[in-house]
Formats: sequence, structure tokens, C-alpha cells
Amino acid sequence: MAKLEISKVHDAYAEEGECPLCDLREAAEANYIHSFTHSRVMEPNVRVQTNRRGFCPAHLALLYAADNKLGLGLVLHTHLQEILPRISAALETARSAAEGRRERERADAAARELAALRDTCFICDLLDLDMERYRSTILYLWQKDPDFLPIIGASRGFCLPHYLELLGTAERSLDTKRLSAWLGLTVPLMERSFATLEHDLLDFTQLHHDANRSMGSDDVRTALGRTIQKLAGARFRPS
Ligand SMILES: [Zn+2]
Ligand SMILES: [Zn+2]
Repeated sequence: MAKLEISKVHDAYAEEGECPLCDLREAAEANYIHSFTHSRVMEPNVRVQTNRRGFCPAHLALLYAADNKLGLGLVLHTHLQEILPRISAALETARSAAEGRRERERADAAARELAALRDTCFICDLLDLDMERYRSTILYLWQKDPDFLPIIGASRGFCLPHYLELLGTAERSLDTKRLSAWLGLTVPLMERSFATLEHDLLDFTQLHHDANRSMGSDDVRTALGRTIQKLAGARFRPS
């Protein structure tokens, strides 16, 4: 079983947001961005991984926005040296397609290789492992900790992307009876959460029509951002 992250999961539930998994992912990601632009950037075992895996577009943008351009430049330089042969080989395949040899097949192969280079990311690899741990911890606490049941029962459920991922973990790790119980708990939670959001979002739109221009409650003022998080995950939540 994956290592459990009990205190982090409890902390995320204490935030009482739209999705504890969004909060956990954001905290882990911020931690990686900070450590990759500070202490960890030159550790030899980390360099082996960053040279090999590189970073996806979203994480390159976050690393660049952090304040260690020299460290990032050094890391990307050795990564570039490592991947240049793969880029050259993919472009060579594309060139041979341009010269009229098995055009479509070779153009597809070149595109697949370039897309893989774009999308592989050491930080995404680490976050995928963390998220699996967080999902397993939620399912563990739900099964083993009687104090957790009222906490999850009073929560706003999860965003759609994380609920989907959690469903996958639940299907893989729970027996049929427990899977039914998990769905019996979370489906009404998600339904209630979406119904509340719909109500809050309507009030949010009314705020802008209201001749009195009242400020509205906190839940109403934040309804648009929370709806976007609910549908797309916190990465797309407007700040
Ligand atoms: Zn989420
Ligand atoms: Zn990434």
C-alpha cells in the first residue's frame, strides 16, 4: 500500500474548500517549485531525473516565474544536451517523410516523439505519486477512522477531475461492497455540492444586476471561482 499522508489530508479538509485534493496538489506543487529553484536544484540524483525527464509547459512556466534563473538555466542546459539527440532523431524522421518516404507513418512517429518530449515532466511524475498517496489516504481514513466520516460528510466533495481520479482509485482498491458504500457517501455529497454551487452562482450573477450593489456573502462572491475549480480543478481557478 502507498505511504499514507494522514496529517496532510486532515489539514486539507480543515481548509473546507471545494476540493481537498486541489489544496493538497497545490501545496505539493508549490513545494516542488520552491525546492527545484532552491535547495534541490543541484542535487546529483535530482539532476539525473531532471536531465532525463525535463518539465512540461505548465511547470516550465512556474519554474521561470520563481526567482532562480541561473539555476533553471543550468538545469535546462544539461536537459537540452540530453534530449538533443532525441530531438534530432525525430526531426530526421520528419525530414525523411518530407523527402517522400513512408510520409504519413514517419510524420506520425516524429509527432509522437516530439509530443512525448513536450509532455514528460519530473514534477508531474512526483505529483502523480503524491496524488495517488493522497487518494489512498482519503479512502483509508474513510474505512479506518470513525472521526473522519463526519468530516468528509460535511465537506463540499471534490472537483470533477479529482472525483474522477478518486473513482479510479476506489474501483481498483475497494471490494464491491465497500465501493458501493463509497459511492453511497460521495454521490449525494457531489450532488449537494453542485446544487449549492448552482444556487450561489445564480446569486453571484444577481449581485451584478442588483441596483443596490450589495456585496453579498462570501460564498456568493467566490461562487464563480469555486464553480470553475469544481469543473476544472484548482489549476484553472482564477486568483
Ligand atoms: Zn480538485
Ligand atoms: Zn509537469
